[in-house]
Amino acid sequence: MPENNRYDVIIIGTGAGGGTLAYHLAPSGKRILLLERGGYLPREKDNWDAKAVFVESKYRAKETWCDKDGKPFYPGIQYYVGGNTKVYGAALLRFRERDFGEVGHHGGVSPAWPLSYADFEPYYTKAEHLYHVHGQHGIDPTEGPASAPYRYPAVSHAPRIQELFDDFERLGHHPFPLPLGILLDEADGKALHTSACVRCAAFDGFPCLVNGKADSQVICVDPALEYSNVEMLTGACVERLETDASGRVVTKVIVTRAGAEEQYSADIVVVSCGAVNSAALLLRSASDQHPGGLANSSDVVGRHYMRHNCSAFMAISRDPNPTVFQKTLALNDFYFRSDDWEYPLGEIQMLGKSDGEMLKGEAPGWAVWKPEFALDYLAERSIDFWLQSEDLPHPDNRVTIHPYGQIVLSIRETNLEGHKRLTAKLEGMLGDIGLHDHLMHRSLYLGKDIPIGGTAHQAGTVRFGRDPKTSALDVNCKAHDLDNLYVVDASFFVSIAAVNPSLTIMANALRVGDHLLERLGV
Ligand SMILES: Cc1cc2nc3c(=O)[nH]c(=O)nc-3n(C[C@H](O)[C@H](O)[C@H](O)COP(=O)(O)OP(=O)(O)OC[C@H]3O[C@@H](n4cnc5c(N)ncnc54)[C@H](O)[C@@H]3O)c2cc1C
Ligand code: SF4
Repeated sequence: MPENNRYDVIIIGTGAGGGTLAYHLAPSGKRILLLERGGYLPREKDNWDAKAVFVESKYRAKETWCDKDGKPFYPGIQYYVGGNTKVYGAALLRFRERDFGEVGHHGGVSPAWPLSYADFEPYYTKAEHLYHVHGQHGIDPTEGPASAPYRYPAVSHAPRIQELFDDFERLGHHPFPLPLGILLDEADGKALHTSACVRCAAFDGFPCLVNGKADSQVICVDPALEYSNVEMLTGACVERLETDASGRVVTKVIVTRAGAEEQYSADIVVVSCGAVNSAALLLRSASDQHPGGLANSSDVVGRHYMRHNCSAFMAISRDPNPTVFQKTLALNDFYFRSDDWEYPLGEIQMLGKSDGEMLKGEAPGWAVWKPEFALDYLAERSIDFWLQSEDLPHPDNRVTIHPYGQIVLSIRETNLEGHKRLTAKLEGMLGDIGLHDHLMHRSLYLGKDIPIGGTAHQAGTVRFGRDPKTSALDVNCKAHDLDNLYVVDASFFVSIAAVNPSLTIMANALRVGDHLLERLGV
């Protein structure tokens, strides 16, 4: 244990939120401690082995949570320095302007955020630059204004994906290059010798063996640790937070490390454990002053859990698809409505390419479609899509703690009709875009084999807002009920939109970071 265990700032968790905040605060000279329950993700050949990653789930946390009926399941979650960004697909998109307002959906209302797109815009630009996002603004009609271009050009399409792009355009659609956080320098579709990323097939769900992915460890945590005022303890699992007698100030951060209890304190404590674990930590920190859980006088902590309605699909191209790096295209033409429906459907993106090992791991479910197609034939021609639609925050979709301490996740699905229609839209186009007219579920990706285990996009469990009766955090992501407690992971989301969450988490961490620098007098 460090000799002096009193800090200016403690940040718990080093993922998209915590890592980004640490990077932003590091030059302040303030004494900062990062507490991370995981260690560094090992760099080894298995990082790029589909069997190890998807079939054996080698890097997934070895813990179980329970559903509302007490049935245990493995959440699709990873505990490492860098959090879930170590395995994320790095599709880094902004919410659309309208996503910050109230949006009517078939299944209900997606509530308004207390801040607008204009409040987030400068931070989106900073986050895009920080995380090396490669993209092109101004092509997707649903996109809001950007105050600066991306610093890096869009990742080029492989020839088969360019054909797909052209086919979508021919049908009157507006495909756009998927913005990706990647350390790639390329020319003519090939990585240059200076490039960290080698444009391999292992993007999306795999850790990157060569640190070519712009994840929170590579981009933020490692650079932050170069400052002498920043320290990190790994294998440090925060068990609970304790307050002074007034209940207004967190005075102790209780940690288990190497089997022993340790205590730390700081002027400012920032929780960033991911939406489920942050809610669980606050609920576990119940006390006489906070009987329903820390920062929970509103009773919203743990509630309004969201995770997207999403599906991974494989289609089969009539011509071989030799693409190695496939995740370069997206389509938002059904984001807010379609020609035959007035409600939002969602977003279509490409996904990392299926390979033979993945197909062997999941084949039985759909191999009946055309049994004459051998797996190798399918793998050679597969084209993979990710469909993502908005789920809605419901108070009963929630995290609670079992009397024995285990996390309980209760969910019931919301707003499914839009997602069904989005799937039908893609299915209806397959014949016109050079694909056999059948979509097959790719169940291994993101743990969708157990629907409740699909926790990759978890958000919303400690929502922010202006009213302390309906939100746990204020607009600076400080707990309404406490003076020195902040939350900067995906927990603060009020709604989840239909784009991937990480850029909004990163942008918000930079925004809260500005507030903290001001508060610290820097
Ligand atoms: C396979 C996969 C693909 C994805 N693809 C994309 C994508 O393409 N685009 C996108 O935007 N998002 C993607 N995501 C989602 C993205 O990874 C998450 O939204 C993001 O990492 C969440 O950031 P966070 O800060 O909320 O939490 P996390 O990144 O989960 O970080 C939480 C951190 O807290 C630590 N922690 C937890 N509990 C404790 C504790 N008690 N004490 C100490 N430390 C603790 C964890 O170990 C972790 O390091 C993907 C996720 C997965 C799993
Ligand atoms: S595509 Fe690039 S970033 Fe992704 S795993 Fe391969 S080398 Fe790493």
